[in-house]
Amino acid sequence: MAVLPIFTDGAPVLRKKADPVKGMNDNIIQLIMDMFETMRSANGIGLAANQVGILKRIIVVDLSEVEGMENAKPLALINPKILEQQDKWVMEEGCLSVPEIRDDIERAKKLKIIYKDTNFNDIEIEVNGLLGRVILHEIDHLDGILFIDRIPPSKRKQHTEALNKIRHGEIEVSYPIITAADVQV
Ligand SMILES: [Zn+2]
Repeated sequence: MAVLPIFTDGAPVLRKKADPVKGMNDNIIQLIMDMFETMRSANGIGLAANQVGILKRIIVVDLSEVEGMENAKPLALINPKILEQQDKWVMEEGCLSVPEIRDDIERAKKLKIIYKDTNFNDIEIEVNGLLGRVILHEIDHLDGILFIDRIPPSKRKQHTEALNKIRHGEIEVSYPIITAADVQV
């Protein structure tokens, strides 16, 4: 397994729509294992393939480090799709691709999703609370959307300076990153 560098805001790959996975192979399994390793080494609870520069519809989630959720099972979701969304709630979010910025985001509270597991079987589940929120945040990544896009413009202004720093690569984090400054050759 390998820790992959995480692309930060401003890197074009974060703004692209990822393609569906057509079937399992060793490369996909390896990517999923690397994504888990990358997420854990950065103390994240979710990661989308776009964040490691791969445009495939794969997300990983692990809430077991969250207080009170020690029994949560790690999940790899391939080609996740939202079937139904209900109710709204607000919670503060952050993102490994947008370091040090946090803000309140409104999302659906209950959802029904379908995805393929690592055997490429369809799984349909209802999720809510934090798990649902992380899945929605990560599905956004697969569609080129970042959580900061969901902050109302009037509130987003307060992050302008911090966002400019991220886009110019003027950030220091404890995990390997690739900034927009690195990809603009
Ligand atoms: Zn994120």
